[in-house]
Amino acid sequence: MRRKVIAGNWKMNNDLKETQNLISKLSAGLSNSEVNCDVIVCPPFTSLSEAYALLKDTKIKLGAQNMYFESSGAFTGEISAAMLKSVGCEYVILGHSERRNIFGESDELINSKIKKAITSGLKPIFCVGELLEEREAGIMEEVIKRQVKAGLEGVSSDDMSKLIIAYEPVWAIGTGKTASPDQAQEVHALIRNLIKEKYGAPVSEKIIIQYGGSVKPDNAKELLSQKDIDGALVGGACLKADSFIGIMQGA
Ligand code: PEP
Repeated sequence: MRRKVIAGNWKMNNDLKETQNLISKLSAGLSNSEVNCDVIVCPPFTSLSEAYALLKDTKIKLGAQNMYFESSGAFTGEISAAMLKSVGCEYVILGHSERRNIFGESDELINSKIKKAITSGLKPIFCVGELLEEREAGIMEEVIKRQVKAGLEGVSSDDMSKLIIAYEPVWAIGTGKTASPDQAQEVHALIRNLIKEKYGAPVSEKIIIQYGGSVKPDNAKELLSQKDIDGALVGGACLKADSFIGIMQGA
């Protein structure tokens, strides 16, 4: 049995004061609720340090939303893996569709980031997902296979235990359109099978594959009860403590 992992991607939301408010509501809410899953929050860079201090006595883990693969130097505006570790991050989201599609990140760049995160002791939440036009053109499988294969190039079998995969169909992100549980399950099974082909069954049975795309308290339970869905990567609904906790309760 894989323990479910629910992660919240705050995206470019919440200044310091709003960070304090949301984390104090989350920890108060969680101390009064039955929640049986691992929880990660991924605030923006500017809130990580504060979030770490506030989360210290809770079970909630900290993640960042991006990083660069170089260790240091003339990379204006970028953040290194070591910097993220130094403010308490355990996880880092890599390959999010907003990074791929707005900021032009390639599979190769994402692969370099994944390898650097792992060697630096950070656990990547590696996102893959097809665009609406790719699904409609019947090439969803091909896109997912390409992203998974390229993103994991050179990642060893041992290192796979340090990584989470998130399947996020781009057409379901922030649109209110969720993939149906069957649609999501189909792609999760495909991804698990790709992992099995490359790394063998013991690795594929252990890997956590989250679903992301308009997950809310009222659809979480059904999605999370699918055989190959091991958690959720949540955007919009993680910005309110009640709805984020509602999703955890569906796990
Ligand atoms: C996301 O961006 O990772 C995401 C899943 O967003 P939303 O839940 O808002 O669709």
